[in-house]
Amino acid sequence: MKKIDLHTHTRASDGIYSPHELIDLAKDNGLIALAVTDHDTVDGLPEAVGYAAGAGIRLYPGVEFSIDYDAGSFHLLGLNIDYTHAGLRNEVKRLADFREERAYKMVEDLKKHDIDIPIEEVLIMSAEGAIGRPHIARVMVNHGYASSVRDIFQNFLVKGKPGYVKKERIGFDTAIALIGESGGIPVIAHPVSLGCSDYVEFEGLLRQFINSGVMGIEAYAAMHTAEQAAHYRMLAEKYGLVVTGGSDFHGDKDEVIGNFMKESPIPIEIYYKLEDFITRQ
Ligand code: AMP
Ligand code: ZN
Ligand code: FE
Ligand code: FE
Repeated sequence: MKKIDLHTHTRASDGIYSPHELIDLAKDNGLIALAVTDHDTVDGLPEAVGYAAGAGIRLYPGVEFSIDYDAGSFHLLGLNIDYTHAGLRNEVKRLADFREERAYKMVEDLKKHDIDIPIEEVLIMSAEGAIGRPHIARVMVNHGYASSVRDIFQNFLVKGKPGYVKKERIGFDTAIALIGESGGIPVIAHPVSLGCSDYVEFEGLLRQFINSGVMGIEAYAAMHTAEQAAHYRMLAEKYGLVVTGGSDFHGDKDEVIGNFMKESPIPIEIYYKLEDFITRQ
């Protein structure tokens, strides 16, 4: 069966596979198209693009920005970006520097709570990529503070718990502008994570987002139920948006590459429609 996945992470951020390992895995699982969408970085993309060409996989260079806006925060994907764009590169460099500073602060805060992990191990764990909470969590697991990354996130690194430090985020307008200037498609990632109290509230937000330049919705997301996926898809169609889908694959959770719930393949027609959209763009 042919499969696709439009939301994945590599070691350039907090995934555990290198870009070429991820592409090998995608190929072994029957994927014909893949988007690499690391958090706040494009560092994995040169290797991904080069290797995918040889492997015969359609590779969409992407990025996943954590966004601050007036009412909260959410994730915005930029799909099919030109990762050599100078403005984009400057911004991700700035964000990576903030992430490194934040990692030091997180380790310090953990120390205040008698949790002692060496920052050096966090830096090694992140392999010079954009440092995220999962890197800290993995080092904490190695030091016996919990048996899994999932357990760490129950008690640490989240708001109100030891080790939490707010992240410096890119502004919504800047992100939309940079994705647009670099030829990409701005897509709201896993919209359920916006935490709207109902679909009516979400639809109100969505209209604002569309006015600001959002062009797609990730209807098929790992954290969506089938009912949510169907609803977000319906909304995308109502507003003429691109529908995307991805597993948010990192490699160390229970995501399955190419699937949006554990066992549901991301519909292949998304890929054909996306190709159509890009051709007409
Ligand atoms: P950061 O961008 O550094 O704030 O880290 C965000 C990443 O942490 C997400 O993309 C997930 O990979 C991971 N994460 C956040 N919350 C959890 C959780 N409750 N369980 C496991 N992983 C999580
Ligand atoms: Zn992540
Ligand atoms: Fe995300
Ligand atoms: Fe993600």
